Amino acid sequence: MSVGESDTIITVLTRDYGVIRGFVRGARKIKSNYLSATQPLCYSRFSVFRGRDKYIFDEAEPIEVFFNLRKDIEKLALAQYLCDLARDLAPQEDSAESFLRLLLNSLHLLSTGKYEPLHIKATYEMRVMAMTGYMPNLVACENCGEYETDEMYFDFQHALLYCENCVPKNQARKTTLGVVTAMRHIVFSELDKLFAFTLNEENMKELSYVCENYLLIQTQHKYKTLDFYNSLFKI
Ligand SMILES: [Zn+2]
Repeated sequence: MSVGESDTIITVLTRDYGVIRGFVRGARKIKSNYLSATQPLCYSRFSVFRGRDKYIFDEAEPIEVFFNLRKDIEKLALAQYLCDLARDLAPQEDSAESFLRLLLNSLHLLSTGKYEPLHIKATYEMRVMAMTGYMPNLVACENCGEYETDEMYFDFQHALLYCENCVPKNQARKTTLGVVTAMRHIVFSELDKLFAFTLNEENMKELSYVCENYLLIQTQHKYKTLDFYNSLFKI
């Protein structure tokens, strides 16, 4: 956000202090290195001063600018949405190392194209929920304890799972065992194996639907960046 003639306010996800907002003095008129380090989607090293009631970013040096994300509208839109989720859901004024690692890994994989955008989106959404106190109970059917049936039901409101023999009376989404298995992997796996699962195209779309709606229903947030990302696929 621009302030005055040449100052800018930026929001940064930091390793040690979580999400912080602060001033960048003269960012728009000085050295280009500094300018690129304070652009959106840039991973940078900063010197930060804490004033009485605000942060001031002083030195800044870009480490990774994710140039590839800027060349592809789908990837750019998704990257902006992932950053919005970090801004709203990551710790504030507290250590956020795992959150930062998750965001960096996601942007890196999106940039390199190692995984499809939908794969990264769904995985990030569900993992973020698990990390921020919204972990759904995916261990077994809430009613009978059955671990798996071919079809399963996910209750967005109560964050619970049901097997095909215990279809709940309230509104729950009928989904596949493949999608439930992927969700279990996302919430329980180590971060370095987080994205290592495969689903066919139909199941990946379903996973994305379930993770997105779970996040929106539980957090009660709306994201213009998500609406824009989804609008790219409507004809
Ligand atoms: Zn059951």
